[in-house]
Amino acid sequence: MTRRGIIFNIKRYAIHDGPGIRTTVFLKGCPLDCWWCHNPEGRNTDPECFGQDTGRDCLIGREVSVEAVFHEVCRDSVFYDQSGGGVTFSGGEPMMQIGFLEDVLTACRREGMHTALDTCGYAPTEDFARIAGLVDLFLYDIKLMDSDLHRKYTGVPNHLILENLHYLSGNGNRILARLPLIPEVTDTDENIAAVAEFMAQNKALREISLLPFNTLGRDKFRRFHLPDRMGTPRELSPERIERLTESFHQRGIAVGTGG
Ligand code: SF4
Repeated sequence: MTRRGIIFNIKRYAIHDGPGIRTTVFLKGCPLDCWWCHNPEGRNTDPECFGQDTGRDCLIGREVSVEAVFHEVCRDSVFYDQSGGGVTFSGGEPMMQIGFLEDVLTACRREGMHTALDTCGYAPTEDFARIAGLVDLFLYDIKLMDSDLHRKYTGVPNHLILENLHYLSGNGNRILARLPLIPEVTDTDENIAAVAEFMAQNKALREISLLPFNTLGRDKFRRFHLPDRMGTPRELSPERIERLTESFHQRGIAVGTGG
């Protein structure tokens, strides 16, 4: 195990990144450029400095070995065992560092840890084939079913993402779809109905988590002096969330929120 990767955070005792108590490892780099990104400091592949004008050392991202990450996630093994938890790889987009990811997943799998991968799905299908057998649960983002809108709001079309979703579900992988509810972008009646219909056509996609708009990203945009393209989005009322949830229930799809 000699491969090295670049991470920008390790969060212990995470409870929204898969079942039980987990450690979430955030890998640098993402091929998307979502307007609402909640981790803009994770998009660039290399370590980078944010907020230089504060005079503090703000370098975000560090190079680590597979062993170092494995050692770190093993620290809380006892909690994983007690809670049915494990380790989650997130980002950025972890698939951007496929070799490193594969090696860490292999080490975790050898230890019998439950593994989850939080992915936007935009990576070569052959890369997903490399790690499909090492991941117990895919937390798989579905954002927009209209490919032109997908390109507008994330920088890339959605074909590859949907193809990979078909590949993984056909492969028998367990998938929890996740839909960020971005006001007036992803939460429109048209998009919600299209996502629900897409899932209804695939018997392996039976659960989705609706993720309320995370304002954390906007605070970071301000703090890091990045352009904020979201403006002032309206708040989603509980009644509206209830209605969106109903679109999935009607098609036999279980809905969770916030994780
Ligand atoms: S996929 Fe996630 S990390 Fe990448 S730009 Fe979108 S929100 Fe940010």
